[in-house]
Amino acid sequence: MPANDQLETLWNHVSNHLCASISPDAYSRWFSGMKLCAASDDAIWLAVPDSIHQLWIEMNYLPALQAAFGAITGAHHRFRFEVNEAAAGTGELAGAFESAAPIAEAVEETEAGLAPAEAPAMEIAFDAEPPVEGRDACTFDNFVVGASNEYAHAAARAVAERPGRSYNPLFFFGGSGLGKTHLMHAIGAEVRAKKPRARVVYITSEEFTNQFIAALQTHSIAKFRKRFRQADVLLIDDVHFLAGKERSQEEFFHTFNALLDGNKQIVLSSDRPPAEIKDLENRLVTRFEWGHTTEITRPDEETRVAILQRKAESLEVDVPRYLLEFIAAGISSSVRRLQGALIRVASWISLHGPMSTDQAEELLRDMLQQEARNGLSIDLIQRCVAANFDIRLADMVSRKRPASIAVPRQLAMYLARELTTESYQEIGGAFGGRDHGTVMHACRASEERMKEDAALRRRVAAIRSQIERGG
Ligand code: ADP
Ligand code: MG
Repeated sequence: MPANDQLETLWNHVSNHLCASISPDAYSRWFSGMKLCAASDDAIWLAVPDSIHQLWIEMNYLPALQAAFGAITGAHHRFRFEVNEAAAGTGELAGAFESAAPIAEAVEETEAGLAPAEAPAMEIAFDAEPPVEGRDACTFDNFVVGASNEYAHAAARAVAERPGRSYNPLFFFGGSGLGKTHLMHAIGAEVRAKKPRARVVYITSEEFTNQFIAALQTHSIAKFRKRFRQADVLLIDDVHFLAGKERSQEEFFHTFNALLDGNKQIVLSSDRPPAEIKDLENRLVTRFEWGHTTEITRPDEETRVAILQRKAESLEVDVPRYLLEFIAAGISSSVRRLQGALIRVASWISLHGPMSTDQAEELLRDMLQQEARNGLSIDLIQRCVAANFDIRLADMVSRKRPASIAVPRQLAMYLARELTTESYQEIGGAFGGRDHGTVMHACRASEERMKEDAALRRRVAAIRSQIERGG
């Protein structure tokens, strides 16, 4: 870890690079208050004055930062941010950052009684949708409850209250960005708050798989097992990632049994219900369904406004109500995107001052267009299937039962489930107000039919690629 004066020199060089690659306005707005706190071969720790800075930089300037640091150090770095105005630049942070550990370990660090405020800075993932804040901020307190998530929320609360004794396992499923990970962390935080000595382990199934493989390679499987099998609460996120990974599934199966036998709590999440995860062993599907399975769907407009309001408050930014309503009306597919839009608007306001809805529309154009495309897709699926089977579009929502109509309608529901992120309930709605169970049945029936009928399988594959090409 370089000494303070080396850090200063490094930062001066990097700043010069940054100045050359972005506008002076943008530099002075977003980077003048930034401090370089620590640097290692592959990670850089930066302090920023507030969360708007962090979010805006993550969304817009990571490539520029990457290039500027890369030009000086010749390395590819990951970036970690700390929002800390008071400590910025005093060097106090450097020490704190040295102990920075990934969030998974932070959640696990229960013996040390790591309070949320002391939790390490989050790790930045280089993907299109940056994390909105450190996961230590995911609590029940800041989770907005609405019709779309009230059952999931209630189940999460019950589990946090009496781990291992209410629903076990608890299985959340739903589309991306709807709050599954948030609720898992909220359970973890709540259990830790109540029982500081409880061992809470949070891990994604992807990381579970990676660590399992690493343990096999380094002959440290006993240690790996101990870590998971001694957990009081095991939170495994995104289990659909276990699909097709046989040895990891096998290992997980034994972990699962050991914990359940000991009345330890298991919480799982996935983008779909257990039975729909492809290439997941039956015995795991069965176990995942043992306890309680609960779906999170897209929030309705009122809930979306409430989420935006809460988020604006926590970011301490002043975004007028008409803009919150504008964002909520245009963006419905995920809370993550909702927040992304809010940050954009808030950042714009902090740069330029008051904003009209026309300006917001301009600023959010790409996001709004993407939402509109999402919204269209069930309609597109229905059109393509109807045209291919030579039935009327109206039959997609009708109650007619002859097989010549019912079969294509079921196939269209199946394709809607496969190709969109809509929930069963939403798909049912788009097919003439059918219920959740009807859509589930349609999906299963379609899969059965395709299994037995190769010609139908080819036909559906052709329709599918037509839809994916845009019709
Ligand atoms: P998922 O795991 O389902 O993909 P996340 O839990 O990561 O989604 O949620 C995406 C973002 O939206 C996170 O920043 C999370 O805090 C936020 N979020 C989701 N649902 C809510 C809610 N009901 N209230 C407040 N914030 C929410
Ligand atoms: Mg998640």
